[in-house]
Amino acid sequence: MESWRSCATCGVENELDDDLCLICADERQYLPPGGQRWTTSAERAAEGCRVQIEELEPDLYGLTAHPKADIGQTALLVRTRAGNLLWDVPGYLDDAAVGAVGDLGGVAAIMASHPHMYGAQLEWARAFGAPVWISAKDRGWVRRDGPELRTWSEPFEVLPDIEASQPGGHFPGSAVALWRAGAQGRGVLLSGDTIAAVPAEGWVTFLRSYPNKIPLSAAVVARVAAAATALSFDRLYDNFRGVVAVDANAAVRRSADRYISWVRGEHDGDT
Ligand SMILES: [Zn+2]
Repeated sequence: MESWRSCATCGVENELDDDLCLICADERQYLPPGGQRWTTSAERAAEGCRVQIEELEPDLYGLTAHPKADIGQTALLVRTRAGNLLWDVPGYLDDAAVGAVGDLGGVAAIMASHPHMYGAQLEWARAFGAPVWISAKDRGWVRRDGPELRTWSEPFEVLPDIEASQPGGHFPGSAVALWRAGAQGRGVLLSGDTIAAVPAEGWVTFLRSYPNKIPLSAAVVARVAAAATALSFDRLYDNFRGVVAVDANAAVRRSADRYISWVRGEHDGDT
């Protein structure tokens, strides 16, 4: 029997003696009807779960568990000459996933943009002998501890050519990672839920809670956008397959300006 279990709603690893997944009990997430439910990787395997891997651009791969074994994120694997970063983490892995990621060069470092994306991070770490970098500001959200966990604070070169920083907002330690070699050298921002792409092309948004639609203040959005746009990038990938393919730095600025004008009440006459 495994020494841990997985929250059936968010897919984050928890110790066996937890009654409640604190990540789901928080106002940014939700407990399902009927309350907390748990599952195990054996149950997921019996359901036919597998990790689908696809190339998004050269040296960048999306990893998505089907059927959903987490919040539904697409984790990102960035290949570099110094090893690979697993950014945000599927809530499931099996021998096939480990083999496929191994064929892509394995994993040298694991980092989540925020606690909802911890997934099965210790299991992935142990499969590849990789450290899990946890934002010091969000360390209290870890539900399953292990020697692979290490804390970081910004700015932090998680691997050569990948700089992690913490604009905050969604969580105090909400992070982004700048992959300088991405987009043919124009720079890619891995934005997690710190900055989320939206269906309208060239726009993004910022929220305290995505499922519960809780906004952030004008001051916080201004701070998040200022931190992000100080980085040099042309393309942005969020954690749910959202992409701003070109001119993404300007999209963050434009979207922050619109958001701020609405939450300040400048358009109240239109409502
Ligand atoms: Zn949960």
